Amino acid sequence: MPDQPRRRRVGVMGGTFDPIHHGHLVAASEVQGVFGLDEVIFVPTGAPWQKADRDVSPPEHRYLMTVIATAANPRFTVSRVDVDRGGPTYTIDTLRDIKAARPDDELFFITGADALTEIFTWRDAGQLFELAQFIGCTRPGYTMDTDLFDEIPAERVTMLEIPALAISSTDCRDRHRRGEPIWYLVPDGVVQYIGKHGLYPQHLEAPNSEA
Ligand code: ATP
Ligand code: MG
Repeated sequence: MPDQPRRRRVGVMGGTFDPIHHGHLVAASEVQGVFGLDEVIFVPTGAPWQKADRDVSPPEHRYLMTVIATAANPRFTVSRVDVDRGGPTYTIDTLRDIKAARPDDELFFITGADALTEIFTWRDAGQLFELAQFIGCTRPGYTMDTDLFDEIPAERVTMLEIPALAISSTDCRDRHRRGEPIWYLVPDGVVQYIGKHGLYPQHLEAPNSEA
């Protein structure tokens, strides 16, 4: 009898990617290698409810920056499911849509440990863990509040230490707004894209009358 074909192992990395940076890419690459993933799908969010306190760049810009950043890696792809659905993105919808498109694949949801802490408290958490294995990326020296593990099936969550990369999108936006370089924090093509489209413009401070 022929062997059962091995199920494809597919990573799903959701994010605002405003902009995508080398922290995201190193995390995805590390998880791909350690878990032997055939593909990692980057999924830029629609309008993220977690970030209602600031203006998020239009989804098409974030989608295109993600395409530019991942284009050279044959295992990296980008999905439009969250961008095209529109409105706030919930991880449960992302995973359901991706699972529907590839029902035979085994999914691994890749997320930073900070975001994982939030996921554990969501209402649909039980269903999330049925749809995917969760990989929480930590930095060396980071310790997770293990009380949270009482609520979730421990075998569905794996923590993985990523080489320290103190890069965040917030810091990249702030640096660009201050006129500081973001070369080598984000891929070259993304630096060029930000300049070409005038993303994260420098704020011209209103003159302070009390000064
Ligand atoms: P922001 O500063 O706007 O919150 P961010 O840098 O955290 O942006 P997101 O798009 O919010 O980027 O992150 C997408 C995913 O990547 C999240 O799961 C987040 O935890 C993870 N992540 C972000 N930065 C890093 C990094 N330097 N190393 C590993 N994972 C990261
Ligand atoms: Mg973040």
